[in-house]
Amino acid sequence: MQQVRPILCILAFSLLLNFSQSQVVSGLSNTDELFKDSGEIYFRFENNSNLNPEVLTRIISIDRKTDRNWIYAYANKKEFTKFSEFKIDIELLPHPGKLIKPKMAGKVNIKEISDWDFYPTYEVYLDMMYQFQTDYPDICQVFSIGQSVEGRELLFARISDNVGQDEGEAQFMYTATMHGDETAGYVLSLRLIDYLLSNYGSDPKVNNLVENLDIWINPLANPDGTYAGGNITVYGATRYNSNGVDLNRNYPDPEDGPHPDDEEWQPETLAFMELAENNHFVLSGNWHGGAEVFNYPWDTWELLAADDDWWYYVGREWADTVHIYSPPGYFTDLDNGVTNGYAWYTIAGGRQDYMNYFHQCREFTLEISNMKILRASQLPDYWEYNYRSFLNYMEQTLFGIRGTITDSATGDPLVAEVFIENHDNDSSWVYSYGSTGNYYRPIYEGNWTVTFDAPGYYEQTIENVEVQNRQVTELDVQLVSDGSGLHEITDSGLYKISPNPNNGKFYINYSGNKRINCTVDIIGLTGESVKQTNYQFEPGKGPLYINMNSCSGGVYLLKITAGKMTFTGKILVK
Ligand SMILES: [Zn+2]
Repeated sequence: MQQVRPILCILAFSLLLNFSQSQVVSGLSNTDELFKDSGEIYFRFENNSNLNPEVLTRIISIDRKTDRNWIYAYANKKEFTKFSEFKIDIELLPHPGKLIKPKMAGKVNIKEISDWDFYPTYEVYLDMMYQFQTDYPDICQVFSIGQSVEGRELLFARISDNVGQDEGEAQFMYTATMHGDETAGYVLSLRLIDYLLSNYGSDPKVNNLVENLDIWINPLANPDGTYAGGNITVYGATRYNSNGVDLNRNYPDPEDGPHPDDEEWQPETLAFMELAENNHFVLSGNWHGGAEVFNYPWDTWELLAADDDWWYYVGREWADTVHIYSPPGYFTDLDNGVTNGYAWYTIAGGRQDYMNYFHQCREFTLEISNMKILRASQLPDYWEYNYRSFLNYMEQTLFGIRGTITDSATGDPLVAEVFIENHDNDSSWVYSYGSTGNYYRPIYEGNWTVTFDAPGYYEQTIENVEVQNRQVTELDVQLVSDGSGLHEITDSGLYKISPNPNNGKFYINYSGNKRINCTVDIIGLTGESVKQTNYQFEPGKGPLYINMNSCSGGVYLLKITAGKMTFTGKILVK
């Protein structure tokens, strides 16, 4: 145990020479002084092998780790007070949100933009988004999924032919700038919306995406952070939201429970969790800045993703394509632009792992530029480097195994699990869409054995399903009823267990529109009660987290009793 010493030491003089802008912090530190101008500070320190990265990452917000073993991090006052107990020498750095004063546009006519070399004011951002819908009403809808702490809008542009109609198309999502001071992706994703809309009808690649995907793009996931300096500038942008919370540490974590950061779910987090629950995204990308790398699951633990080879392949496709269109040295962090998250540095509560583990959505984290706030004049270059990769990755949603799953007698679409034998684990399986029975299973090339399973039906296993990269393998399946008439929780649509199978820790998502008091029972196969709890489900409250603690693996019955209604479901603990 190291002795507690709330002192920040002066780093060696030679080190400071390299960072003329950095500020020397010395003597007895006064935390009040450090935070007198801002709710968050940016600093770096040398990685010390005595530090447990799993512990450290839950105290401060690690931004990146360099190969020379420096850790760059943010902290608010509460976090820094805790961190200072480690008595680590730190170097205070200029905040990335205040390095440059970027060129802002206070007025914009979308149709006349050619260079996209500006940052919009908040008002211009709103105007641009709604203008997309006005200009392309047949293929674009723009709406807010909720408000930030300070009441700014969390806007999405939804793009598809027959937009808004449920055609069972694969849902795809990009979101940018959930760290408010990582603004490159903000403008590039606005430009991507414009690119898809204005090239639809003339570009075959865009036609394919708009006609076969249900595309959701959110350019600004943390508007309070980005406009912390006021609505007319992104100068002074902060990483955290206006409650001083890092939104990319604020999600339920597969390993560390519902609140790995010990903070309440923020309004921005709740809006995205509700969005994920009410939709069925197949692939997504979460755009950041501060490094240049394609970062794929997992962030929270060392285990490789079941689809690690697929992830590496789509990551390589992204990076290798970028390298063709960019100068040497760009997008070469870690393994020449690709890494799994844990191999770089571990985080808990990130949205990437949340989407993968709890929603069977393959989400990666894009780090698009070393400079968090690029000069506006650099934005067109970064578009040129990256836009082909934006499109290629979207296309990957449609490759792999896909088809529809229906009842063999009635032809009704089924919610079924699609499980790749000797391959799937940690929530890598997928489910078909209830409305159409469509399913999408992107996977690396090979010969796969696939099992289709729905409650009340005999499971069906198909061997030798051949997949080629960048090709579609169509596989429609008709499941035969087992006559049990069994209707499980997943069928009711009201309650959903995720993940299932699980490790004894799972969530019950409620999608009803009224408040319900109920008893939740978990019962073992021999009828013994494993856990009983009373709970009030209500719209927008978020899921109920259940930890079965040290139960053994096997099948359990979940029973939800609400008045005269009883719902049952099976939980498989691995
Ligand atoms: Zn970030």
